[in-house]
Amino acid sequence: MHPQLAEDLAQLPDLLEATRKHAGAFLDGLAERPVVPPSRVPAAEPLPGRGVGLRAALEEFAVRWEPGLSASAGPRYLGFVTGGATPAALAGDWLTATVDQNANSGLDPAGQHLERATVGWLRELFGLSDAHSGTFVSGATMSNTVGLAIAREWLGERRGVSPAEDGLAALGPVRVLSGSAHSSVSKGLSVLGLGRGALVGVETLAGREAVDAAALERALEETDGPCIVVANAGTVNTVDFDDLRAIAALRARHDFWLHVDAAFGAFAALSPAHAHLVEALDLADSVCVDLHKWLNVPYDSAVQFTRRPDLQARVFRNSAAYLGSVGDNPDLVHLTPENSHRLRALAAWFTLRAYGRDGHREIVERCVSCAHALGEAVAATPGLRLLAPVRLNVVCFTLAEEPTAERLAALAAEVKEEVFLTPTVHAGVPALRAAFSNWRTTGADVHRVAGALAEAVPRVVRAG
Ligand SMILES: *Cc1c(COP(=O)(O)O)cnc(C)c1O
Repeated sequence: MHPQLAEDLAQLPDLLEATRKHAGAFLDGLAERPVVPPSRVPAAEPLPGRGVGLRAALEEFAVRWEPGLSASAGPRYLGFVTGGATPAALAGDWLTATVDQNANSGLDPAGQHLERATVGWLRELFGLSDAHSGTFVSGATMSNTVGLAIAREWLGERRGVSPAEDGLAALGPVRVLSGSAHSSVSKGLSVLGLGRGALVGVETLAGREAVDAAALERALEETDGPCIVVANAGTVNTVDFDDLRAIAALRARHDFWLHVDAAFGAFAALSPAHAHLVEALDLADSVCVDLHKWLNVPYDSAVQFTRRPDLQARVFRNSAAYLGSVGDNPDLVHLTPENSHRLRALAAWFTLRAYGRDGHREIVERCVSCAHALGEAVAATPGLRLLAPVRLNVVCFTLAEEPTAERLAALAAEVKEEVFLTPTVHAGVPALRAAFSNWRTTGADVHRVAGALAEAVPRVVRAG
């Protein structure tokens, strides 16, 4: 063994203790470090020939890289839709690396059992029946892509071909109908060879991001044969929800695969006041839910549910003599794009075991009430205006006068050490979004964010 490795091995408990202390100090400072620190790129260094050992590497990381890292795990990182890591999820993630399992095969099955048990809990959490099976993937983009890959194979089944076996040329043209599809749907269509151009935008309800079900029906009538519908359960700008029950009912007259992108909107199921928004989720053929957002497990984690694991295995089957057969209950290696993957379910298992449905409901409801509180503060701040009502956990707002993209970027830059907000365009108007999905965020953070905005607006307005 290399002497540096042998030395680290001999000192392993002490080194892990030093790392734990370091992590503890980082977490202690999380709420007060700049949310997005000024950007600086450390000078490049050549690849080390001789290593320095773990202790020195840790010291160097602390000086060289850590100061530039954002507080994205903290309470006022409100850009994109970003979760943190609950204490139990963090511990689960540490142990995931510790046990370092490749949970994909019945030949060494314990990790796979844990993943399946955790999927069962998640299914219950979101009100899905056991007609849905599920698999862990790295994020909602991958979950949407896997759902669309199963949909592609379903279309093949309807047309008497198998795109998985015979390629896309055998399938012919495909239409994917959606109201306000997330950008990852286009990316998935590109990856799957269906093409971004397959996505056909359907009219939304007046002033809303939710699809107009009557317009969807007209689009289905204009479509020749079976197609794919992507319904949206929680849009990123205004957290609007398509009427899932009405869309599913269209299948009585039209043949389509219903994929629901519920990346973070599925968590509405945890709040009695909002659960009706996703009560028809079970009617979908495939469902995307992100876990590194509102479940508050560390990156990267999401789940993909479907009623047709048989089609999923047709797409992702990875047969080899040494991997075992596909069979009726396929190993995970036959169900997702990855063959090898970490025991991603462990962090989710830990947080569900530690806090249960009630603990996670409290996180969801607190995030929703923080969003409402910030919405009210924004509406009361001179120079700002809400661009949409706060429907769940996102506040979409803009400058009352001359809301150009440049001025909004200037506003976001003014406040970014206190709060991270990301830009968008909604209804043709440049805007900023504040998305609440971190378990640490409280009313005191909302107060700080509102204060920072109220102070920054006059400076941005004055600068012209
Ligand atoms: C975040 C999000 C995605 C993509 O999620 P990743 O985890 O970044 O891959 C897809 N759809 C919706 C609605 C989202 O909010």
